[in-house]
Amino acid sequence: MRKSKVWAGVLGVEKSTVIDRLDLDEEAKIAVFTVRVRKGAKRRCGLCQRRCPGYDQGEGQRRWRAPDIGLFRAFVESDAPRVSCPQHGVVVASVPWARHDARHTTVFEDTLAWMATRTSKSTLELLLRIAWRTVGAIVTRVVAEGIAARDPLAGLHRIGIDEISYKKGHRYITIVVDHDTGRLVWAAPGRDRKTLAAFFTALGESRCAAITHVSADAAQWIADEVAAHCPNAVRCADAFHIVAWAGDALDEVRRDTWNAARKGGMGGYARDLKGARFALWKNPENLTERQRTKLAWVAKVNHQLYRAYLIKEQLRQVFVLKGEEGKQLLDRWLGWARRCRIPAFVELAKRITRHRAAIDATLEHRLSNGLVESTNTKIRLLTRMAFGFKSPEAMIALAMLNLGGYCPPLPGR
Ligand SMILES: [Zn+2]
Repeated sequence: MRKSKVWAGVLGVEKSTVIDRLDLDEEAKIAVFTVRVRKGAKRRCGLCQRRCPGYDQGEGQRRWRAPDIGLFRAFVESDAPRVSCPQHGVVVASVPWARHDARHTTVFEDTLAWMATRTSKSTLELLLRIAWRTVGAIVTRVVAEGIAARDPLAGLHRIGIDEISYKKGHRYITIVVDHDTGRLVWAAPGRDRKTLAAFFTALGESRCAAITHVSADAAQWIADEVAAHCPNAVRCADAFHIVAWAGDALDEVRRDTWNAARKGGMGGYARDLKGARFALWKNPENLTERQRTKLAWVAKVNHQLYRAYLIKEQLRQVFVLKGEEGKQLLDRWLGWARRCRIPAFVELAKRITRHRAAIDATLEHRLSNGLVESTNTKIRLLTRMAFGFKSPEAMIALAMLNLGGYCPPLPGR
């Protein structure tokens, strides 16, 4: 086997690439491979791959970063001539080892994208020796290529729409998930009718008509926009958001109890109550031993707060049961909440009655609560990771990579 062929395999640039020489700089620990495009793949438009007449030599030699070889940083170096494409005009010719406009080889970019869905920002930066801003640009390019190959908006029937805040609640993105595949299919900065209208425009009239179910929180702007575009869709209320309302009501009760205890000079009791927040808030199956003890303490010393906790938990059960059973339990729950004499929950009962039709639709059509909840949680984590990105587009690309099914396989495995 010829040496250049071995090196092409090591770099992951076997396709239509000839390696002419290798220069090692032992001082700087850099390996530079001088390569050229094989004849049949020459003079192709970087955008459409069409064979075109040559134009000029462009800016001469260019370097692309390749994955490290051991402790050496590796680069691929080559001419980057321009061609004249009848459709795209004068563009840099396509090279088989890298995406158009990229400064890294495809193998490097795919490795980075694969890692970006699995590891922390600092690990990625250190291990691949790359700036976080570059990560944003690469992820955006990888996802754009994936979307060109597989349209995320194809075949949608049951969708979920959600708004997610980031930058401490100062910014929002609107997201759309597919209940049937579990994938994130669309996201854009903003949270208003105009933002969502862009999604329905991209979907087009006939595909809008194919939408049968739309789940969302109770926001009116979402309801209005869905009604305007999807004539055949049933609107469902996201269980995740309804249960979150109960969590908010419970927190209000806990805060009031705590304030009353503090003002009443019961400092120790107030402190203990403050510590009970997570025990009350978490799902019972996820409680730690200490939190279980805390909950038992609440049950003993504060009947109203414990009752509020039970009411919240029963509402959660409604969405675990779903179907006819869920609806019956919701009837009983409403009776209980209306008469419980805890203002936050009496108010919640009214609010739920107002949204009863959309909630019943969720129970009847058994739309997954877990999908919206987990997408919501994962995007929140991603927004923290994406903090250093300049644009929301890079953050959205990172979300599509993770949750849209656009993560490339790890090269060479
Ligand atoms: Zn072209």
